[in-house]
Amino acid sequence: MTSRDLILLALDDSQILSLMERALQAVSYEVAVANGYEGLEKILDESSPALLLIAEQFAGRNGIEIAKAELERFPTLPILLFAERDTTGTTKAVLKAGLSGYLYPPLHTDDIVEAVNQSLERARHLGDWIRREVKQTTSSLEKRAEISETERNKLEAIIANIEDGVIVLDEEHKILFTNRVARETFGLSDESIGTPILPAIQNPDLQAFLLHPTESFIKYHELNFDDGRVLNVQQTRIPHIGTAITVHDITYLKKLDQIKSEFVHTVSHDLRSPLTAVLGYTELISRIGPLNAQQQEFLGRIQASVQSITTLINELLDLGRIEAGFDTLRESVRLESILQYSLDMFGSLITQKNIHLERNVAPDLPSLRANPIRIRQMLDNLIGNAIKYTPKEGTIRVRIRTEDHQLIFEINDTGPGIPLDEQTRIFEKFYRASNVLDGPKGTGLGLAIVKSIVESHQGRVWVESKIGQGATFIVVLPVYES
Ligand code: ADP
Repeated sequence: MTSRDLILLALDDSQILSLMERALQAVSYEVAVANGYEGLEKILDESSPALLLIAEQFAGRNGIEIAKAELERFPTLPILLFAERDTTGTTKAVLKAGLSGYLYPPLHTDDIVEAVNQSLERARHLGDWIRREVKQTTSSLEKRAEISETERNKLEAIIANIEDGVIVLDEEHKILFTNRVARETFGLSDESIGTPILPAIQNPDLQAFLLHPTESFIKYHELNFDDGRVLNVQQTRIPHIGTAITVHDITYLKKLDQIKSEFVHTVSHDLRSPLTAVLGYTELISRIGPLNAQQQEFLGRIQASVQSITTLINELLDLGRIEAGFDTLRESVRLESILQYSLDMFGSLITQKNIHLERNVAPDLPSLRANPIRIRQMLDNLIGNAIKYTPKEGTIRVRIRTEDHQLIFEINDTGPGIPLDEQTRIFEKFYRASNVLDGPKGTGLGLAIVKSIVESHQGRVWVESKIGQGATFIVVLPVYES
């Protein structure tokens, strides 16, 4: 039972008015009676009644119209209409106006109390629901605002404290942001914010790097400092903001590189020297005196084995260097010229096997930024395999073309082809596919070397082949504007 709710009655008929007043007061409602239209407005504004009960005609006005206007001001106020009689027209009008319900004669005390109780109950549910929704929405908004504010501080703290230097530039190369490492590395002060980067930073390597316009989104470069430090600088375009420059100290990597190079050099030397000695002595043996046929044959086998160990060692050493990422030399390389050198080297083999060679090189190819020695090694391996696995009188087609800032090298042969389920495995170290096991010898390292070389140049390599229909190896390398 709701006891203290104020019910506002707006009725002209004094008999009905007093009936309602009594009925409601009997169940402990507080009742206010509107004195004319102004009186109604005044009580609504000042006393916030819990419910309005208004007659179809009140103070010479249309009760429904008044109710509609009040609902605009107090959308959650429950309003009951006292209609002259129950008609479908009244029902429609009440529903249309958004009122809580209506009463009509003959009036019984219970009907009045029940209608008021129900309307208040519904209004309370609605109010509760609105309050809950508002609370939820507000708290989720607060949470979101809170999180993003937290996140922002976190991000700022991370960028400020990471051990890489970060400089953000706007579209006009003016400094928007620098972190501590960047300021220390380039001797920048807080006043540099908002100034152009070029006079602010004196390092000639960095200046050259920044002045160089590029189409690609990411650029890398090494900065050398007089005190021996080497930094790797990366420039990333950020749409609608400008450019982010990150600087990473790679001095220790460079030192490691040197140590590794020395190690590789020593090991390869130490391994190769005894092998060279073995080879040398096998040659000397035949000079000391005549050998019988069997001795000759054994000697030949020793020589072939030593030769293949030497090849294996060389390939392993190469692979180690490339995989460790120490192969960083990059210069402008013309793939078509290197292809020519490689084909020249294989010329006699091609002639020997009477292989038909077709070459299709597109004109005006762009250069690669690559290590020419490794690119040559890659071509030698692919061309060498094609020749090795293609039977006499076969055909080898090589093709270079360009597409979407990429150079595409394809080599197709009329060899045995490669089973589908082994086409990815052949790029693994020491993997030799079932198609060639009775055929030419090999270490199974050639394609692993090709793959490491291609990937260290940010490229891709794969094979397309059907057994018995030859194979096509495809290498895609990105072209960098230099
Ligand atoms: P290797 O040639 O020394 O065995 P690779 O790593 O160069 O090692 O090649 C791995 C395997 O891939 C080869 O053993 C062979 O099974 C297969 N393969 C490579 N090139 C070809 C080719 N052109 N035609 C058919 N099979 C090939």
